[in-house]
Amino acid sequence: MKKQAKQMFDQSTIPNDLCPIATEFFDLPVGDWRAKRPVVLRGKCVKCGTCWAFCPTQCIVERDKWFEANLKLCKGCGICAQECPQNAIVMIEEEEES
Ligand code: SF4
Ligand code: SF4
Repeated sequence: MKKQAKQMFDQSTIPNDLCPIATEFFDLPVGDWRAKRPVVLRGKCVKCGTCWAFCPTQCIVERDKWFEANLKLCKGCGICAQECPQNAIVMIEEEEES
């Protein structure tokens, strides 16, 4: 006899208003409180997509020959710069010029 999968969690027991915060999506411009921002050294970028895969805000966008951050959403965490296998991303202070 086939063993039935054990039901771990019955969603029907959760009231609709259990977590009223974050039940609706809205576009929060988290870039407003960023201290550093990523700058892509375009000549080094090979469009591997690693930065896109690791970015927690999913704000990396594709250009013709490189990837770069949408600075409206980028919160400056620096994960993209740490993970880029080409060292093509540098983090600079917000007040510095790129
Ligand atoms: S991880 Fe680096 S090389 Fe890869 S797409 Fe991003 S910036 Fe370009
Ligand atoms: S600094 Fe953080 S939020 Fe900004 S693009 Fe890189 S990984 Fe994404």
